[in-house]
Amino acid sequence: MTSARDVTAAFPRPKQSLGQNFLVDGNIARKIVRTVAPAHDDVVVEIGPGRGAITGLLAESGCRLVLVEIDGRLTGELKERFQPSRAEVIHGDFLELSLAELASRFGRKLRVVGNIPYHLTSPILFKMFEEYLSVSDCTLMVQKEVALRVVSKPGVKEYGIPSVMTALHGEPDIAFDISPNCFFPKPKVTSSILRIRMKDGLPGDLDLPLFCAVVRATFGKRRKTLRNSLQYIEDREIIPERAFRDCPVSLDLRPERLSLDDFIMLTRHLDRSIR
Ligand code: SAM
Repeated sequence: MTSARDVTAAFPRPKQSLGQNFLVDGNIARKIVRTVAPAHDDVVVEIGPGRGAITGLLAESGCRLVLVEIDGRLTGELKERFQPSRAEVIHGDFLELSLAELASRFGRKLRVVGNIPYHLTSPILFKMFEEYLSVSDCTLMVQKEVALRVVSKPGVKEYGIPSVMTALHGEPDIAFDISPNCFFPKPKVTSSILRIRMKDGLPGDLDLPLFCAVVRATFGKRRKTLRNSLQYIEDREIIPERAFRDCPVSLDLRPERLSLDDFIMLTRHLDRSIR
């Protein structure tokens, strides 16, 4: 196995601004790729391949690879190493990439994998949700605390906006945790491998912008009951006598008690009563 010291010598100086904590533990890299279990026909998009710690093992499976790396100091080596096989290297920002276009070019849904910069976790998750129809699943290394928030169920303190938005678009689970010692430079936190299998569609007739506004409005004031927090929803005029009449969800609850189905019922009810 490559030691952190060998790797340090060979690396261009890691850029903190790009979230560069490179994986230097070969066993963990193998465990991640076993978790992904890429098939020959899969199109795997890797976010931030860096020096290729995971990429090399993904490539061994023979899957098609799209490697999206923002740091131009690393793309030359990635092209040299991986482009002769079934890989293409894109020098750019993953957040700017159209996954819909990529999926349509390959004629299949994408599998997204990445040891991602921690500061981009929310934007990357929300991109997965926006483009969920082009993605079959994602396997992302994220901060353990974030992974716990994503997989939480109603009734626990970690349950919040990321849990509800993830449950709407997919089925998440945590595969395993990773110690800071497996990276160079060492991050301050423990990481987890978070998997999300994306759904094929959203519940019919759900007004998604209203759903998001309801989730934001209620968790924005998570100590308040729904009756209080729903007095104002972005861009919608609420007339409480109408909106709160015959509501299928108890308005005396706080948002942390509501399941995904409750949020869907609540959104449908508000949609009918506040137009
Ligand atoms: N995959 C490598 C590994 O496991 O060792 C590197 C992981 S490092 C945590 C994050 C990588 O994402 C870096 O290579 C960084 O340059 C790249 N990166 C940062 N922001 C990016 C973005 N917006 N789009 C694509 N890559 C990005």
